Amino acid sequence: MCSLDVACGIKERYKYMSSEFDLINKWFNWPNTDPTVIKGVGDDAAILSVPEGKQLIVTSDTFISGVHFPHETKPHAIGHKALAVNLSDLAAMGAKPAWFTLALTLPEYNEAWLSAFSLGLKTLAQQHNIQLIGGDTTRGILSITITAMGLLLPEKSLLRSGAKHHDQLYVTGTLGDAAAGLAMLQQPLLTRSEQCIQQLDYPQPRVQHSHIIRDYATSCLDVSDGLLADLQHILTASKVGAVLDLACIPFSKPLQCMDKNTALHFALSGGDDYELLFSIPLDKQKEFEQHMQQQSLICYGIGHIDQYVHGIISRDQQPLTPKGYNHFIGMNH
Ligand code: ADP
Ligand code: MG
Repeated sequence: MCSLDVACGIKERYKYMSSEFDLINKWFNWPNTDPTVIKGVGDDAAILSVPEGKQLIVTSDTFISGVHFPHETKPHAIGHKALAVNLSDLAAMGAKPAWFTLALTLPEYNEAWLSAFSLGLKTLAQQHNIQLIGGDTTRGILSITITAMGLLLPEKSLLRSGAKHHDQLYVTGTLGDAAAGLAMLQQPLLTRSEQCIQQLDYPQPRVQHSHIIRDYATSCLDVSDGLLADLQHILTASKVGAVLDLACIPFSKPLQCMDKNTALHFALSGGDDYELLFSIPLDKQKEFEQHMQQQSLICYGIGHIDQYVHGIISRDQQPLTPKGYNHFIGMNH
């Protein structure tokens, strides 16, 4: 469907419609040899063959210019990140990526922009063997909605609700880099770290980690709104509390060079990390860590679940209050 503004004249509407089909064919009709895709881009809807005995996991994320990424973000990074955040949600559930749709709203037809966006998207899609099977293309403020689908054996899903007393808490990578990167872009007086900006633009979804984590974890989610805010989601769903070991929060080199409180603020309350946060029962901890090591995958222990604690506290009993981002009230300080 071509949903153009009423203000858009009929002549322009038809001019845009013809290029809409060219645009889809040129940039988003990728060769698809995957046998699960019976019909991909090109018909009214896609037809997929869902393997018998598997559950379908579905997630959607919208990405709006100026809200979810700065207007100046390079189109290659936008393509990467729009898919990466969806792959991260699939990983947080333990699912294997299978298919995705792309709803794209563009302010104008811009070949250079589309070429870079499509390449960023395609490169990550190929890395994770996820197939683009359709979507929608409209005109308006730049906005991208991806719906990703993954597959999972029944009983294997990683929920937020299973954390138990004494479980150990882990994250799959350093925290706060993306939030620091965003602060650097917004406040040019801050010393710039390309590593932090790279982390902001090109988060790496922890799909490989998740396939091991799902065999051991009692709960899992991906950290997108800040460690404390997202940990609180696990605690609320699991009806438990947690003790965080602040000395064990993993920091990248650039954050290690910052003032300690600033680095902690980015790590605890910043967003856009896309690391997995999960809980492992004490009696499985050793086997889990060995398994991760065998696969050369890194994770960091950062605390534990305590059913007698209310909310989140530090090792020295200080309450830690979530300050994640909320779209309707902004940063809740
Ligand atoms: P319809 O008018 O039937 O909704 P569209 O013109 O929106 O059809 O889309 C035609 C085909 O192109 C469909 O198969 C749709 O899934 C696909 N498509 C549209 N936009 C995109 C996009 N941005 N990326 C991938 N496929 C797309
Ligand atoms: Mg359509």
